[in-house]
Amino acid sequence: MCIFCKIVANEIPSSCIYEDETVMAFLDISQVTKGHTLVIPKKHYDSFLDCDKETLAHLIQVAQMLANRIIERTGAKGMNILSNVNEIAGQSVHHFHLHLIPRYSSDDACK
Ligand code: 5GP
Ligand code: ZN
Repeated sequence: MCIFCKIVANEIPSSCIYEDETVMAFLDISQVTKGHTLVIPKKHYDSFLDCDKETLAHLIQVAQMLANRIIERTGAKGMNILSNVNEIAGQSVHHFHLHLIPRYSSDDACK
């Protein structure tokens, strides 16, 4: 079982900020900026490329809702929303996830 499947199964603790039947969101263990969040499908897909369309459509809607909420709560001025696909692009956990990285006027995040 991959590390994010273990988080979904509650075998590894996470700072969960959202959960429904098919999608979960939790804080990244290594915060690029304050509020850095990962949105994942509960079912395992290796990457963005093979996630089924219905799950992807729902996940994107959840990500938009959370992005607005995070910006409201953190006072971030913007956000990078991205998904790394395969090792060459920096993917280190091979369970599809969307990064929500809040941006602040004084941050030096570059991911
Ligand atoms: P990737 O490099 O695959 O795009 O992103 C994987 C992300 O997962 C990294 O930003 C990393 O910090 C995060 N991560 C890895 N292991 C864990 C974990 O056990 N818990 C949480 N919350 N995040 C993790
Ligand atoms: Zn998995």
